[in-house]
Amino acid sequence: MAKKKEQCSFCGREMPHMFRGDDGSLICHDCIEAGHKMIREMKQYLEEETDIKGLELNTLPKPAEIKAFLDQYVIGQDDAKRYLSVAVYNHYKRVLQPREEGGVEIEKSNIILVGSTGTGKTLLARTIAKLLKVPFTIVDATVLTEAGYVGEDVESLLTRLLQEADYNVKKAEKGIVFIDEIDKIARKSDNPSITRDVSGEGVQQGLLKLLEGSVVNVPPQGGRKHPEQEFIHVNTQNILFICGGAFDGIERKIAQRLNTQVVGFDASKKAQKIDKSDLLQYIAPQDLKSFGLIPEIVGRLPILTYLKPLDRDALRNILTEPNNAIVKQYKKLLSMDGFDLTFAPDMLDYIVDKAIEYKLGARGLRGLMETVMMDVMYDLPSSKSRKKTYEVTKAYAQQRIEKANLHQLAASGE
Ligand code: ADP
Repeated sequence: MAKKKEQCSFCGREMPHMFRGDDGSLICHDCIEAGHKMIREMKQYLEEETDIKGLELNTLPKPAEIKAFLDQYVIGQDDAKRYLSVAVYNHYKRVLQPREEGGVEIEKSNIILVGSTGTGKTLLARTIAKLLKVPFTIVDATVLTEAGYVGEDVESLLTRLLQEADYNVKKAEKGIVFIDEIDKIARKSDNPSITRDVSGEGVQQGLLKLLEGSVVNVPPQGGRKHPEQEFIHVNTQNILFICGGAFDGIERKIAQRLNTQVVGFDASKKAQKIDKSDLLQYIAPQDLKSFGLIPEIVGRLPILTYLKPLDRDALRNILTEPNNAIVKQYKKLLSMDGFDLTFAPDMLDYIVDKAIEYKLGARGLRGLMETVMMDVMYDLPSSKSRKKTYEVTKAYAQQRIEKANLHQLAASGE
């Protein structure tokens, strides 16, 4: 970079800091920015008519095909997978339908997934986007605040989608946005007028606009730090919003509702059927309202489904079964060094036991495996041994885990 004041070869102004090309020409940061803007606009213009490849009515995967794809990556959660498959199929049918005047209009149906953290909500949404090859982004509802307050405006969540779509607005307008922790913007008190609730109801009102489908002014670089940036207009009509949240304590609301319902004339029949150990399966829109989501938001999330807590078998399967299972990844990594790596079945059981013991859930499995595998991954590639097989035993795993700082492991599972 040139330090003393020289002239920019493009605008001719004297600037203190510039980039110098091989031929000695100089460019100032204003010209770089102007160039970047022009390229972006040109790209947008050229791609205006290009659409997402493969996203066509006749090749759109059917619900059973979507579910079969999800099965390759996500263990269990059959109910959620079925709901999602149908909802996504219908959504893209609606997006791709030929326009006809006065015909039946299919309404936009966004989705809400309720289930404890680490049960696969994000994974499901991400996997669907992978199948359809549409732009996908994950945003955390907790960073959003009402306009004018510290935090991010709701519009900024589309900035990331635009970035994922390389600023191709057409592509972004058919993408999927996963809004995580939607439960954290629930109304804090039942009386909305008591205090200003900048991260709760105000944000829900803002979000409503996006969920409904409207043209939104999106700051291309996000945030409020760049007041000079020109907005990009994005129509959210065809963007699929999948919301996820743990909704801690919602079981109480479900139980309350079920209790009041069973007082009806066929009470005994209903009461028998209720499985109290898994109340989430009975979740209904009114429970989301009782939890603090405003009725309008609940109305805009008509597809409501739940995820089950992962049991021992599910965790064990997560280690070995999905296409990109952790165990498969380690085997692949070491096969590139010519090693055939195996894991003793009781070693994998042990990892699952530890994940349960320290309440690490599925997210903690990787941390535990990393702890066990660190030295193996370090030593094996440069081993001179002629034996090209290596088995990770339970005794070895036990020794590694006991040596590791378990508090650290617990923290990594948060
Ligand atoms: P959530 O969004 O529900 O909090 P995630 O989908 O982010 O949870 O899950 C965290 C990680 O745990 C995933 O990246 C994946 O490795 C693993 N995982 C969680 N649930 C499952 C599942 N049902 N099948 C396979 N892997 C899972």
